Amino acid sequence: MNLLQRLFNINTTINTTLTVTSSNGFHLRPIAQFVNEAKKFNAKITLLAHKKEVSATQVPAILSLSLEKEDSFTLRCKGKEAQKANDELMIFFNNLMKNDKKIEEITQVSTIYESVTLKGESIAKGIAIAPIVHAKILERIEENSPATLREAINQTKKELLSHYEQNKVLEASQIFLAQKELLSSSVFNSNFANVQEFKNLIQEECHQLKNTIFESRIADYQDLEQQVLKHLGIHKELELPVFPYILVAKELLPSHIEQLNQTPIKGVILQSGNSTSHTAILLRSAAIPSLIIQESIELSKQAILDANSGDLILVPSKNDVKKAKEKQIAFIESLDLSFEKRFESTQTINGKNIKVLANITDLNSAKEAKGSGADGIGLLRTEFLFSQQKPTVEEQTASYLEIFKLFANVTVRTLDIGGDKSLPYLPMDKESNPFLGVRGIRFSLQEQTLFKEQLLAIGLASREVQNTKIKIMFPMVSNTEEFIEAKAIALKIYEEQQINIEKISFGIMLEVPSVIFALHTFDELVDFYSIGSNDLTQYLFAIERTHPSLKVNVNSPILMEALKQIISSTQKPISICGELAAEEKSLENLLTMGYKTLSVSAKLIPELKERIRHV
Ligand code: PEP
Ligand code: MG
Repeated sequence: MNLLQRLFNINTTINTTLTVTSSNGFHLRPIAQFVNEAKKFNAKITLLAHKKEVSATQVPAILSLSLEKEDSFTLRCKGKEAQKANDELMIFFNNLMKNDKKIEEITQVSTIYESVTLKGESIAKGIAIAPIVHAKILERIEENSPATLREAINQTKKELLSHYEQNKVLEASQIFLAQKELLSSSVFNSNFANVQEFKNLIQEECHQLKNTIFESRIADYQDLEQQVLKHLGIHKELELPVFPYILVAKELLPSHIEQLNQTPIKGVILQSGNSTSHTAILLRSAAIPSLIIQESIELSKQAILDANSGDLILVPSKNDVKKAKEKQIAFIESLDLSFEKRFESTQTINGKNIKVLANITDLNSAKEAKGSGADGIGLLRTEFLFSQQKPTVEEQTASYLEIFKLFANVTVRTLDIGGDKSLPYLPMDKESNPFLGVRGIRFSLQEQTLFKEQLLAIGLASREVQNTKIKIMFPMVSNTEEFIEAKAIALKIYEEQQINIEKISFGIMLEVPSVIFALHTFDELVDFYSIGSNDLTQYLFAIERTHPSLKVNVNSPILMEALKQIISSTQKPISICGELAAEEKSLENLLTMGYKTLSVSAKLIPELKERIRHV
């Protein structure tokens, strides 16, 4: 769309091709978030794939496209806010894909028990020793139905939304949003003549999911039915004991997990489903040791459920019980230990001090980092403060200040726009290779207004804090001239505004390979480096980091060699803030090379600190 059309807001149709990059595919939870976002625009938004065009505000319709990893679809936006919708949804979708982590399989560590064991698939770690109880559903019907069917549907949606809002910090909460969006789809908008019609519709939806990759969503539909019926006075609840127990269930619905949490539940054995089902995700989030075992399971007065090894023992020997108890204690201690020690400093076995910093995007993640024991902020990705609309200098200053107040050292990266990151309100020239184009510092030096405003805001915020050291870091620097020019712009602003720069230092992201060969010259200019392994790997191997099929290997020996060369060639403080910093496999290697500062996302900090203590 040209500038004129943009200025006069001419109704138009915009098509953009998007690719599913998550190995989970475009599945229910991200779809629900996408739908929730798409509803915000005054535009007709559709998705086109496999010769089908479906509404972007209907979860089941998008699900029916069965978009798997590497599939592309067209995002089509028409109407008044078409451009805005296109730009914002594009970023939103790419972020959804980036953040949609593959559900990690639990690696079972075999344990030799002397009694007969049944083997299962582990879905939530832990060890339970308790009697086996089979799930029983109790039906209770209130005499007078308290609501109409429409009211019951609306109440269920409201309840799910508030459940989602209240638990937003937990990833598992997305399940409630997903269920709410399923129930908000147009199929449930029809005027049902009676409850049976509603039930038939649910059955039909379930039938369509049978034998598809989305089969595990059947439980969500069944769950919705139960939740709606509950508001009509028909309660179907699990009958659960008041003593500690291991529950064996043929079918456990996501909403049952909350009920389990109110009882002394010790473990769960599911007899159907898989580890990616919503029930499994909620069991993991509630830390209830769980296995999937298909075969029938007899009652037992004292069973061992060892989800760490995948064993269920219905008639354990005394020795087995003793062994399981010892394992249980060691497991709980290992979990508690890392969390308990999260605020402590971190040393390797040889006594090397290692700093574990946090990568954050805003005040919320800064607070999370504080609670997780971060030793400071190693990377504030400021793009997120700019992602919806352009903040004023005052707004930016206020945001930085809130974060500066929380930590003694904060590394603020100036805007890293370009590549896969764009700003919806900022027209940028189309480039055929955006990752090799006007990105990071190149953009800031071309479009200096935003850059200058940002530097000013950082400087103004720095004036308001006493003890915080502020590191300003420029992204995508590939030669010394860029650094010299960027720093000179900052210094000029600070001189004009009489901002004392004693607390401020200047450095670069080391993420363009050319820098490796100019470290001696850079050392004379910069105060610090932070290695962006995500981009460094991308540029070392010429593999686009968001490429749907080509894989960038963050553990590659070639990258390791580059990191060795870097640390032995510089005298300046250096940290690693890319994904590599959290890689279990590379940790020992990095510490041996001499890296002493790692920056990772907040929730990984307690565990990383504990792992370092064993290297
Ligand atoms: C990196 O490139 O490794 C990095 C930390 O920055 P980003 O992922 O934001 O590009
Ligand atoms: Mg980068």
